[in-house]
Amino acid sequence: MMRTAVITTLALFTFVSCGPAPGPRPPEATPVERTRRAPPTRRVAPAKPVKVTFARFFTDHTLRVDLMHRGSAKAESYKVIELVREGPWAGSRTQLLDPFSYGAHRFEIRDAATGALLYTRGYASLFSEWQTTREARKITKGFSESLRLPMPRAPFDLRILSRTPKGKVRQVFTRRLNPNTKIRSFRPVAQITTRVLHKSGPDHKRLDILILGDGYTQSEREKFWRDARRFAQVMLTDRTFGAHKDKINIRALYVPSVDSGVSEPRKGRLLNTPLGLSFNTFNSARYMMTVKNLGLRRAAAHAPYDALYLMGNTSRYGGGGIYNLYSTFPSDNEYDAYVFIHEFGHSFAGLADEYYTSEASTENMYKANVEPADPNITAFLGGRFKWKKLVKPSTPIPTPATAKYKHVVGLFEGAGYKAKGLYRAQQDCKMKGKGHVDFCRVCANATAAMIKLYSE
Ligand SMILES: [Zn+2]
Repeated sequence: MMRTAVITTLALFTFVSCGPAPGPRPPEATPVERTRRAPPTRRVAPAKPVKVTFARFFTDHTLRVDLMHRGSAKAESYKVIELVREGPWAGSRTQLLDPFSYGAHRFEIRDAATGALLYTRGYASLFSEWQTTREARKITKGFSESLRLPMPRAPFDLRILSRTPKGKVRQVFTRRLNPNTKIRSFRPVAQITTRVLHKSGPDHKRLDILILGDGYTQSEREKFWRDARRFAQVMLTDRTFGAHKDKINIRALYVPSVDSGVSEPRKGRLLNTPLGLSFNTFNSARYMMTVKNLGLRRAAAHAPYDALYLMGNTSRYGGGGIYNLYSTFPSDNEYDAYVFIHEFGHSFAGLADEYYTSEASTENMYKANVEPADPNITAFLGGRFKWKKLVKPSTPIPTPATAKYKHVVGLFEGAGYKAKGLYRAQQDCKMKGKGHVDFCRVCANATAAMIKLYSE
């Protein structure tokens, strides 16, 4: 029973983290358009390509763009609320363009003067998940969101693209912004304290993970540090992440809470906690997320980070993970270590759930005959699949789920909440089952590639 319930809940988590979508890149200025124009009467020298370096276009601060993302099941729009200058930039100074195409959205930054593409990142959002709910067919709703990037030196153009469920990418927002005017500077709050739990090197060349606690009162301060240290050890001893611990820094941030625990709206338990973590997100019992984005961002800004974890001070089972947003997990549940890594698979590496026994409500997260963008599941269209080079020629395709192929990389039917039509790479994986199992080879490789992006 427990397992069914768990699967149902976790199923919901991933939709956003994975974003239903195959991976055509967002269109650049298209050559097609150019050919439609009348040909130039004389030769014009091509524009000099702009060499993009971090030092030329960015200062070593973090810019946070706070947005309102609003809409319904059919429509969406963005509005810029505020620009905030946070602390030092913790991300890479060389990996400015996102080589992956995961997530329901993607943002691009171009230098206004030269048009040079400076920075891109894929991400997913609570909004895109809410769009699939029944409520979104009836009403319009807004979600606070933030984009983070190194601080451009000069005015820039922000462009946001979203994917349709059928995988089409379209521009939904564009705006010229000036980082030198109307920008607010972040000011720290004395009661919020940071500790370094694992430091392997300089922030620019490491994946910087930040664990924030929610629902820890002043008297539970020591419990918070104990809990945070325990989960840092879970990561450092995990087979996949532990293998890269020399590329990872881990910090924890204590934020005092008025109330102890995590809100449970279905029980009428609404708590006053700084990050606003709550079960029953989108009416799903074990989906523990927060819609209080600004509270979260203002707290997180006290430390450098690439990836966020929100730890709920609770023994109740639940969690969630949204690609390039955050992962959540409970501090004191028997499965907490599993949730901790599984959800990070979604939020950090863009991995899809590999299980396929779930309720009907999750059946349409992946459209038939559309290749998902997620690196670890495939629709196997036209005989192609992403991890083919990892499969030995002697392994049958599709691969039967028998003892002979128990630890073999192949093509096993059943993944992404569908028993038919979607495939995974191995029989078992941390993205599939709740047992003491590691990531499959494909998930481990995708995670390693993402760690590389942050640590070069
Ligand atoms: Zn896997």
